[in-house]
Order: sequence, then structure tokens, then C-alpha cells
Amino acid sequence: MPTPVYRLEKLAERLGLTSLYLKQDGLTARPFGGNKVRKLEFLLGEALAQGVKEVLTFGFAGSNHAVATAIFAREAGLKSISMLTHQPNAHYVQRNLLLELYAGAEIHCYPQLRAMLRGARCQKVRHFLRTGQKPLEIPPGGSSPTGVTGYVNAAFEWKQQLEQNNIPPPDVIYLAAGTAGTTVGLLIGFKALGIKTRLLPVQVVNRDWLSTQVVMELFNRSLSFLRKKSSDFPAVTLSGPEVGIRDEFLGKGYAHFSEAGMEAVRLMKETEGIDLDGTYTGKALAALVHDAREGLLKNKSVVFWNTLNQQDVASVIEGIDYRHLPKPLHRYFEKEVQPLDSL
Ligand SMILES: *Cc1c(COP(=O)(O)O)cnc(C)c1O
Repeated sequence: MPTPVYRLEKLAERLGLTSLYLKQDGLTARPFGGNKVRKLEFLLGEALAQGVKEVLTFGFAGSNHAVATAIFAREAGLKSISMLTHQPNAHYVQRNLLLELYAGAEIHCYPQLRAMLRGARCQKVRHFLRTGQKPLEIPPGGSSPTGVTGYVNAAFEWKQQLEQNNIPPPDVIYLAAGTAGTTVGLLIGFKALGIKTRLLPVQVVNRDWLSTQVVMELFNRSLSFLRKKSSDFPAVTLSGPEVGIRDEFLGKGYAHFSEAGMEAVRLMKETEGIDLDGTYTGKALAALVHDAREGLLKNKSVVFWNTLNQQDVASVIEGIDYRHLPKPLHRYFEKEVQPLDSL
């Protein structure tokens, strides 16, 4: 970090836009980048400061968050426990599960969310009995006030980058929104810095997990956290209409690839050679593509904030055998991927 900012000239031309940039948070770290790294910088710092030896977190089978936690916890000398549950199959799920093995995570798989939360209570007790210490729980997506701080920091990085490169602050930024930590961190940071850019969070998870209310609650909790750490952090506020979640690109639900999302993935690959995905970034770019075609972005300066890992992990997972995974996860390797997953 700072992660690069690129001009997307070919994609801009295709969409009839005059100014289109990409913020490449796919390169936040090696061997695995993406948005979770910025949150983990603070979350794992907190774990080390508390003196815990283990962290426990949650995700769906192909969770980028669980993978990033496992990899960087190990780098910080911590053990990581991944509590996983099922999702639609895709090639990236296979890659991420192999990365969990590579990172030496302790993996548990549950048939549904409720069982996973019960399982977490059991695992905490079990680890306490074994080690005398409870693992630190990191919430799904790393979206606690501590994790959000990573994206407040990203807003400061962004401002400095615009100034250094003489890029005028854009009108709008599109990004994928799941547990909302990325969105909330940028919202707080932009407000604190007086940046007027409109954020357009594109909903990629089901509506009971992400709503205006969820964003506002996380905003308020994170702001209290920051102001408790430093009383001169500005007391910014957020109103409901400012949140502006775009929910028309979710399709059938979380991790169900959509036609519009996959068209956006192909368009980015063809024009710029950048790999996006069907679960998160394809749907976010689909919103941008839609708005451009509707003429809503005429003469606007537009940014796509990429949250997806861009490091090639093929050599990292080479030779790792999925049969070392808990049995219920073998299905991702033995059954077909969803039809729209072309990779
Ligand atoms: C987790 C994730 C998101 C969503 O970020 P939140 O902070 O949970 O809203 C977006 N894109 C990718 C690739 C992710 O892995």
C-alpha cells in the first residue's frame, strides 16, 4: 500500500465515459490481496495487543475473508479457526478452500448459519479447555469498528493519492458491499476529510444481512470507537438517504452468479485484462455498466473500487489435496460448479 490507481481508457471508451479510474485493492498484499487485508491490519493488531494466540472467524465455503484471516493470522504467529457454511459452487470456492489448507487453518463446516453460530460457542469452549485462553472472535467479513478502521485509513490514502497525481475528486465510486465494512470505512473517512464523492455500494448479499439500517449502525458504532480512541476525530453524521445501497444487481442471491454480473466480468477482461468475479465485483461493475448505458454518468468522473484479490494463487495451492478438508467440503470438488461460472 498505497495500492495503485489506474485509468481504464478502453473500458471508458466502450461505455462512453470521459473519466474512469480503478482503485486496485486487489494488490493490498501477497500472496492474497483484496479488501479484507486492510481490515485485518487492524484486527490482527488488536489480537496481538490483547495477547491472544488464536482467532476465530466465519464465512461461506469460498469466503475471501476466512482465507485472508487464515493467511495473515499465521504470518502474525496466530492460529486461525475458520467456521464455514455452504454456498453455491464455483471455481473460486475450490481455490479458497485449498488456500485455507495452505494457511493451516483449523476448519469446521456446518450445514447452515444457525449451526455455525452454535458451533462457534462450542469451539470457543473447546479451545479454552485446551489452551486456557479463548480465541478472539472476528465477525463475518471483518466488519467490526476495528476492521472498519482499515477503510477509514484507505480514505486517507485515497485523498493523498488524488493530490499527488493531480486527479480531481471523482463524482462517484462504485464498490461491492457485503458486510459493509468497506463502505462504512470509506463513508467515515470521506466525511472526516470533506471529500464530497458519492459512494454507490452495490448489494451482493441477501437483504437480511445488508440494509440501510445495518450500514447506519456500523457507521455509528465505528465512529464512537474512533472518537473514543481520539477525541479530535470529527463527529461526522450519516443520514439514511445518503447510504444509497443499489440492490438491483443481486440476482438470485449471495454467490449466485448473474447474467449482468458475468457480462461485466467479460467486459473488464476484454477491455482491460483485469479479472473480476461473479459473487462480488462483477455485480458491482454491472451497476456501473448499467448506469453508463442509461446515460446517468455523462460527463461524470467515475471510479470502480476493486475489492477482489488480484494475486495469482495457482502456484501457492499446487499439489494441495482437497481430501484433507472436512468431508462436507469435498462436494465443492466433486460436484459441478454453477452454469454461469465459465472459468
Ligand atoms: C468481502 C468482499 C466484499 C465485501 O466487502 P464488505 O466490507 O464485507 O462489504 C467485496 N468484494 C470482495 C471481493 C470481498 O471479498
